[in-house]
Amino acid sequence: MDKPVAAHAYDLMKTYGKGDAQVKALDGVSIEIYEGEFTAIMGPSGSGKSTLMHCMAALDKPDGGRVTIAGTPLAKLDDKALTIMRREQIGFVFQSFNLVPTLTAEENILLPLTIAGRKPDQGWYSRVIEAVGLADRLKHRPNEMSGGQQQRVACARALVSRPSIVFADEPTGNLDSTSGAEVLSFLRRSVDEFGQTIVMVTHDPTAASYTDRVVYLADGRVVSELREPTAEKVLERMSVVQRRMGA
Ligand code: ADP
Repeated sequence: MDKPVAAHAYDLMKTYGKGDAQVKALDGVSIEIYEGEFTAIMGPSGSGKSTLMHCMAALDKPDGGRVTIAGTPLAKLDDKALTIMRREQIGFVFQSFNLVPTLTAEENILLPLTIAGRKPDQGWYSRVIEAVGLADRLKHRPNEMSGGQQQRVACARALVSRPSIVFADEPTGNLDSTSGAEVLSFLRRSVDEFGQTIVMVTHDPTAASYTDRVVYLADGRVVSELREPTAEKVLERMSVVQRRMGA
């Protein structure tokens, strides 16, 4: 079974610091992210999850190896082309929402297109707004919304340009479990109904259970993988990985 690949990292290396203080954040990570799948990246704190996401989302550069997004190797792009790639092909959802406080929900969602001087595809925009359940909140500013609503605005902003891939870095890390479940249901729905490709870093086995596939990192390497995860299977595999790494 050959599934189409939305993003591909091959043998990524990234080292921070020098001499004794040197840390290999990524130590030869290779991973394929399949189109129309929801993939979770898990692993202990410091295992390289954020570094991997940032390198794959063109927010940081690896020291070695290569990343391909929608068939284009990032290393081949100059700064201008990288900016266009980030704007058009990549969506990003941060743990801390990162909304502009002075703008309404609608203005925040449309901001990436406004900056690019583009108009939204109205049909697509309406579908995203409906799916995210924010139709009656569009004129509200972030401080008039709950954390869960703000994160749903951030998800809609990530989707509005119809990117090839959305990266979400602990998107439920700042939310209570009910709001977290709303955000995860929306992400799941955008995969099932829109065919969106999503990669999410999470610590939470329940969050991981919304995905199709869990990839485990430890010490800057991919060490395990699980398909059709349930919270129980995710927990069980986490403890196997931890025991193996500790041994
Ligand atoms: P995770 O997201 O799994 O917690 P990170 O990718 O944030 O892991 O970090 C991997 C390793 O790289 C850690 O040891 C971390 O301390 C180190 N690291 C990450 N970013 C930097 C940085 N900017 N400067 C120095 N060390 C860093």
